[in-house]
Amino acid sequence: MESSDKARARTSGSALGPSLNELGYYVGRVEGNLYWVTDGVYQAAFLMTSDGVVLFDAPPTIGHNIQRAVDDIAAATGASNEVTHLIYSHHHADHAGASSLFGRSIVRIGHEETRTLLLRDDDPARPAPEETFQDRRTLEIGGERIALAWHGSNHSRDNIFIHLPDHDSLMLVDIASPGWAPVCQGAVIEDVPGYIEAADTALTYPWKHFIGGHMGRLGSRDDVATHRQYMADIAESSRKALDTVDPAPYLVTYGENPWDAVTGYLDAVTATAAAPVIGKYAGVLAAAEVFTAGTTFNVLQSIRLDLGYGSQVHP
Ligand SMILES: [Zn+2]
Repeated sequence: MESSDKARARTSGSALGPSLNELGYYVGRVEGNLYWVTDGVYQAAFLMTSDGVVLFDAPPTIGHNIQRAVDDIAAATGASNEVTHLIYSHHHADHAGASSLFGRSIVRIGHEETRTLLLRDDDPARPAPEETFQDRRTLEIGGERIALAWHGSNHSRDNIFIHLPDHDSLMLVDIASPGWAPVCQGAVIEDVPGYIEAADTALTYPWKHFIGGHMGRLGSRDDVATHRQYMADIAESSRKALDTVDPAPYLVTYGENPWDAVTGYLDAVTATAAAPVIGKYAGVLAAAEVFTAGTTFNVLQSIRLDLGYGSQVHP
């Protein structure tokens, strides 16, 4: 558990959110009748409308506390506590695995690729959305506007932007985690150029409140801008490291085993690229020391393989 100890040691106050209640969740208002609920690691959101409750994601770690959070707000406001709609940000089980708790009769909405992937995965916990869209779809539920958009693959190939223009809010999951370095994204970026671009796209929308799907607090535009700069710094540092780290010593050291040479070289480039970024963001983004190398490895591979940077044709 050394890495989580490190993460904890460098967790600054700005990374942490409000305290959880004794059942293990916090529910709060985002704006107007839009609310969010967290267990400190995952987030869902919900909109209380005159036609029922529209839920955005159903992380299994929050599980039954999602309905409890809705009940809390319904009791306080006199609105209905009946969840009638569930919008999936993307198909991943860690954000959708409590979907089946809301039964078969609610309306599930998602990207058409989310439907394809959920039909493929055939997980009873995550029924596929019956209502789908391709690029854009604006919903009007109970008089509330919810603008869904797909801007290409990023963290996953089906991850969408959920904009609530009347609530000054954007929900975009698994891209930026306010206050934190991207957690484990080193392993789960499906499309690195798309992942990097997603922060730019997010900032083209008008909004004040960012719901990132992770960790214990909401985000601001500054949080997303910091994430964007962090990723840009990783990309720039990766290019520099590709330019400067000489593969020759690794070929000599591991002469007998060419794959060891490749691994040793890539590890060295990753460490060289990550070091200045860790130095810059330690104390700025929690867990930068823990996760930057993993993210850098992925970015580095994308720069080599997607962009062809540093690729030389044998003379
Ligand atoms: Zn995901």
